[in-house]
Amino acid sequence: MSQYDISELERLIDGELPWARVQEIMKDAKDADRFEKWVAILQARVPWKEPILLPLTTALFIVRKGRQRIVKCRCGHEFGDYRVNWKLAALIHVRETEGQLAEVYRGTEQPDPTWIQIREYTCPGCGTQLEVEAVPRGCPPDFELLPDLDTFYRAWLGRPLPDAVACEDKTLEAMRRWRIEPR
Ligand SMILES: [Zn+2]
Repeated sequence: MSQYDISELERLIDGELPWARVQEIMKDAKDADRFEKWVAILQARVPWKEPILLPLTTALFIVRKGRQRIVKCRCGHEFGDYRVNWKLAALIHVRETEGQLAEVYRGTEQPDPTWIQIREYTCPGCGTQLEVEAVPRGCPPDFELLPDLDTFYRAWLGRPLPDAVACEDKTLEAMRRWRIEPR
């Protein structure tokens, strides 16, 4: 089984390893504790203490906060329960006119504004652009990853998480709470 030291994995994460070395690592068997090393590197880089359960992007993490599992930005901003699409709690900038789309697309690359929207999701805490999606008008925000954390930790890492929760999409439930009841 291959073993890599932390500094080499840090350079891999940061895209600083020569491509030839990256290819060697990609072809080789993964070291058994790669996930733990990867998370430890990322944990050391964030200014907060809640344990990272799973990185979602380079800026977003599912973390354990008390008995909750929430999505948290590297800046510390919290988006809430990881089973609710975090995009609902982000700042959203929509490009939907020809002029707005022309700011990012040229010529024939530009999608048809009568049916496509570009949505840019930004962290309210630090202003990092977290995600961009091009979707048909009316399409709900794409929920890109709802991991089954309990199965992952139990069956793949061999160390079950405390307080197992049902892995179900709670986004619609959260949106129902927005509804304004008629008087
Ligand atoms: Zn942030």
